[in-house]
Amino acid sequence: MPKAREDGYRKIEFRRGKMKTIITKELTWHMGHRVPNHKSKCRNPHGHTYKLEAYIEGDVITTAGISDEGMVQDFSDIRRTLTTRVYDLLDHNFMVYDKDKPMVEALGKFQRFEVPFVPTAENIAKWCYEQLKNDIDTNQRQLKGVKLWETPTSTAYYGK
Ligand SMILES: [Zn+2]
Repeated sequence: MPKAREDGYRKIEFRRGKMKTIITKELTWHMGHRVPNHKSKCRNPHGHTYKLEAYIEGDVITTAGISDEGMVQDFSDIRRTLTTRVYDLLDHNFMVYDKDKPMVEALGKFQRFEVPFVPTAENIAKWCYEQLKNDIDTNQRQLKGVKLWETPTSTAYYGK
């Protein structure tokens, strides 16, 4: 019967490891920055509502009776990692390139988050990936990549 053949084909595909599960979790925060050498208005201090989407690829846990059965990773555990590794450091903060002396001085006594790179969407996405990877990766799953929205129409993806 065609249905049996189709099911058998799917089982073979699964055994060969061609089928994968990817789960995602989103995080939003508000942050100021500037791009010091930008040719236009991005050189001025300003802010964005940033959104990050983390892509986690792995095997669905099949251990019967445990909390994570049927999951790649519990979404609430991912939220905790995103919160402690990114949100708590960056929300309502100002990300500034540590070699951007005029901006560091202008911020004076105000809170800032100094980084060794120009805070573009591309560099922030890479920083977020590196912040999250160690907490997410296990033998069963890995952080495949992150996508960062700087505006509703502008994104940077860092990952595989
Ligand atoms: Zn900007």
